Amino acid sequence: MNLKQFKELQSFLASPKNIVIIGHRNPDGDAIGASLALSHYLKKKGHYPTVVVPNEYPNFLHWLPGSNNTYRFDWQNSQSQRAIKKSDIIFLLDFNALHRVGHDMQNTLEAYENDFVLIDHHQQPDEFKYMFSDPEICSTCQMVYHFIEIMEDIDLIDADIATCLYTGIMTDTGSFRFRSTTSLTHRIVADLIDKGAENDKIHSNVYDSNSYERLQLLGKALSNLKVFPEYRTAYITISDDEKKSYNFVKGDTEGFVNYALSVTGIFLAAIFIEDKEQRIIKISFRSKGSFSVNKLARENFNGGGHHNAAGGKSTLSMDETIKKFISLLPKNKLDLVNSYEA
Ligand code: 5GP
Ligand code: MN
Repeated sequence: MNLKQFKELQSFLASPKNIVIIGHRNPDGDAIGASLALSHYLKKKGHYPTVVVPNEYPNFLHWLPGSNNTYRFDWQNSQSQRAIKKSDIIFLLDFNALHRVGHDMQNTLEAYENDFVLIDHHQQPDEFKYMFSDPEICSTCQMVYHFIEIMEDIDLIDADIATCLYTGIMTDTGSFRFRSTTSLTHRIVADLIDKGAENDKIHSNVYDSNSYERLQLLGKALSNLKVFPEYRTAYITISDDEKKSYNFVKGDTEGFVNYALSVTGIFLAAIFIEDKEQRIIKISFRSKGSFSVNKLARENFNGGGHHNAAGGKSTLSMDETIKKFISLLPKNKLDLVNSYEA
C-alpha cells in the first residue's frame, strides 16, 4: 500500500464501520490467525467487524480467541450474506485472488460494490483498491502486525491479538524454520510474547492435537512414500479409501508433505490426496531452495502459492496425475538437482 492509499484508508477508518474479514477457503493457521487478530484489533478501534470463513477449518485452530464468533459462509450462508451486504469495506486476508474463497463466495464478492483491502503475502495478486502485498514476508499475520504498526496502534495489541498473530506466524513458518523467517520476524514474535502470547500453550494446542486415527493415517501415508533420488524428489499418495479407513477429518493430512521433504537430499516434495466427492486430486508441493513450486503448480496443476510452498489440483485419476507429475521431472532435472545447497 503506498502512503496516499494508506492515508485514505486511515481516514476512512477514522469513524466506526461495519467491516467483513475473509480468509481463503480451507483456512490454515495464518488465515484464521490473521482474520481473528484483525477482528479483535478493529473492535478495539470502535468498528463492527465480522469474520466470515469460507468453509470448515481444522479443530486445532478452534481454541483461538474469537473462533466462536465467526460465520461459516457454507452453512451460515444467509448470516454471512447479510454481513457482507451490510459492510462498508471488506478485508481479504492471506489470499491473492477472489477465486481462492470458492465458487459461491467468489460470486458474492464479485457483486460487492464497496472497496476491498488486501493484506497478503502470495505472489501475483489481483488488483484491489487498497493493497498491502509482500511475498517476502513470512506470513499474513506478520503483515497484520505491520498494518497495526503503520496505524500507530502497537499498544493496542493485547494477549488475544498476540496469540492469534503468533499462531499464524508459527504455522506459516514451520515453527520459525523456513527461510522467510527473518530476524524481524523473531523480534515481532518476541514482542507478541511480551504482549501475552503463551508460546508453549500455542505450540501444544496446535501440534499436540493428534487423534489416534490421524497418526495411523500418517503411518499409511509414510508407507506410500516414493523417492526419486536422481530428481531430488519424493511424493506421498493418499487415496479416498485410505482416508475413509482412518476416519479422516479435515486437517488430518496437514503437514504430511513435510515428511517427504525431510528425506535427506530431497528438494521437491508432493502429496496427492484423492477427494472422490469433489472428483479431484488435491496436491500440495514443497521445495527447498531455488526450485519454484509456485511455477510448477501454476503451469501444470491449476494452482499456485509461494515459491517454496504451493498447491493445486488435478481432475485426472490418481494414477494419471502421478504419471503427469513424474513426466515433469526429467525436464526439470537440472533445476531440481541445483535447487539447494546445504
Ligand atoms: P497447502 O499445500 O498447505 O494447501 O498450500 C500451500 C500454499 O499454496 C498456500 O499458501 C496456499 O494458499 C497455496 N495453495 C494451495 N492450494 C492452492 C490452489 O489450488 N491454488 C492456488 N492458487 N494456491 C494454492
Ligand atoms: Mn499465509
